[in-house]
Amino acid sequence: MKIRFLGTHNAQALCFAHTCFMLDNRLLFDCGSAASCLDLNEQLALRGIFITHSHYDHIKDMPAIAMNRFLNGQHLPPMSVTALLSTLDDIKKYLFDGDIYSDFFKKNTLVTTEAQLGISFEFDGYQVTPIESIHKLPCIGYAVQKNGHSFYYTGDTATGFAQNFIKSGLFCHVLIAECTLENSLKGTTLHLTPNELKEELELIKIYQGFYPTVFAVHRSAKQEINILQEIKQVSDELNTEIFCPVEDTEIEF
Ligand SMILES: [Zn+2]
Ligand SMILES: [Zn+2]
Repeated sequence: MKIRFLGTHNAQALCFAHTCFMLDNRLLFDCGSAASCLDLNEQLALRGIFITHSHYDHIKDMPAIAMNRFLNGQHLPPMSVTALLSTLDDIKKYLFDGDIYSDFFKKNTLVTTEAQLGISFEFDGYQVTPIESIHKLPCIGYAVQKNGHSFYYTGDTATGFAQNFIKSGLFCHVLIAECTLENSLKGTTLHLTPNELKEELELIKIYQGFYPTVFAVHRSAKQEINILQEIKQVSDELNTEIFCPVEDTEIEF
């Protein structure tokens, strides 16, 4: 599996971008900054988008990608958008209402795939399992497996995601977890701090017997220096690797 992190922060400016990443050059997970980070051919090569929830920073670039595919990809099959039903409804209502932008679902540029909690399904050769996250809006993470390789992306979440992952009965070698806030802001919003991530990782270790390799994303750009220091401390305390990828980092596992 090859993952290219397009954005790894919770905001967007010239040097950082909303959290989203591409799997094996063909599947997107979240879409806050994908159109700004992928060239046209890369956008046309996509086969599906998996959305965790309907907050703006996770869906912002969907209209731009849909328009590019509509204008340049008439030969392509419609691209699947996977999300919870309520998230799909929000996306249609607010991004593709036919007024502020075209309804690319009606034009058959995009098609919906409804994600159901805990129900695994096959997509393009991957086994995908939606797992409930804890957030202000309905939100899911995705556990993805193929040929003995696996990762789990939490989407936006507060503490409790590990318990939900454990309930799924799955294992993950790689964990892409949100870690938005510095420790001093614990409990102010439904996001994780480094120390809260540590507690979740300890639960996963007890359950599966090993720590996954962790990539912390959705970091607050404003608090970046403190978050990086605090994550390094957690990494040292647990004696396991926790990486903080920057934009356009590529990993393979
Ligand atoms: Zn959110
Ligand atoms: Zn977010």
